[in-house]
Amino acid sequence: MTAAETLADIHARIEKAAKVAGRESNVTLVAVSKTFGADEIRPLLEAGQRVFGENRVQEAATKWSALREAFPGVELHLVGQLQSNKAAEAVALFDVIHSLDRSSLVAALAKAMTAEGRRVPCFVQVNIGGEAQKGGVPINDLPALMDEARAADIPLAGLMCVPPAEKEPAPYFALLAKLAADNGLTGLSMGMSADFETAVQLGATHVRVGSALFGTRETD
Ligand SMILES: *Cc1c(COP(=O)(O)O)cnc(C)c1O
Repeated sequence: MTAAETLADIHARIEKAAKVAGRESNVTLVAVSKTFGADEIRPLLEAGQRVFGENRVQEAATKWSALREAFPGVELHLVGQLQSNKAAEAVALFDVIHSLDRSSLVAALAKAMTAEGRRVPCFVQVNIGGEAQKGGVPINDLPALMDEARAADIPLAGLMCVPPAEKEPAPYFALLAKLAADNGLTGLSMGMSADFETAVQLGATHVRVGSALFGTRETD
């Protein structure tokens, strides 16, 4: 399949999942291009895709400076864990951040946004499966972290999660949707290559799709 055909296929699957659930298919497809090079990204840009996700600040900065010049209108999303000492660079580079998950990062991002004169919308990442090794704020700490972000004038785009591997993702997506509704947020960044249709059925506004668009990765 060409990049345009692959892209059309993903969009068709999103639309079908939305239809099954009786919802509008107003879902943003974030093409997660981490580990892939400009030669692999360009065909998708030529096919019209403009929203891309990366998980490393340095890799994104290196890859995207030339691509952004060649293709106006690119929107870059940070989908990986962010270290506080990279907050300034992340705020300068990314248009949306999906991994706000702790107080120290609220402080670092708020400071960087003020310094850059740029308020970057952030999804709060929730550790939806309560996994020790995973990023994301524990569910019990979510309201307090949201209060801190609001007090620091960080625009909240919604909630984000990565459900536990090897488990049926639907209950976790449903829980994230409930947490967002309970906390007055509408954005839901959930669903990856293996489960984005389920996520769309359960209300995702942003799906983060990598390998289904680019092929399998050697590493993360
Ligand atoms: C890599 C990654 C994705 C994309 O994963 P695929 O399974 O390749 O679609 C989505 N979200 C996050 C946070 C990621 O790190």
